Amino acid sequence: METPAPDDLGWQPCGFQRATFLGYAAQSATDALTPYQFECRDPRPDDVVIEILYCGVCHSDLHMARNDWGWSFYPLVPGHEIIGRVVSVGADVTRFQPGDAVGIGCMVDSSRHCTPCEQGLEQYCEQGHTLTYSSYDRHD
Ligand SMILES: [Zn+2]
Repeated sequence: METPAPDDLGWQPCGFQRATFLGYAAQSATDALTPYQFECRDPRPDDVVIEILYCGVCHSDLHMARNDWGWSFYPLVPGHEIIGRVVSVGADVTRFQPGDAVGIGCMVDSSRHCTPCEQGLEQYCEQGHTLTYSSYDRHD
């Protein structure tokens, strides 16, 4: 399969406005990954918007794409271990600025104030956490 160029699929650079993104998604546990366009919610004041430059797809991503652990939902755009560049930041962001290089694991949000979060165990956040895929935004 020939991979379409991002511009051919209507990809737009991200800013502090709703944008269309391109990923490769599994539509079910048995489907191959195929190009998939999607929109993200509007950024919030504490959000950092990045351009993804590189993304790992490791064995856990494959387990999720195949629903081997029984909690995947679709469409699912696997991949984490992300390296990117900050495009824009919200008004409440103080530690990042446009142009910064950033890395993201498999988790993008947690309360950061409960006991597990304060112990560096965000995966056990008492208020829930948000993963890079197959996860709901904990604020919505
Ligand atoms: Zn927490």
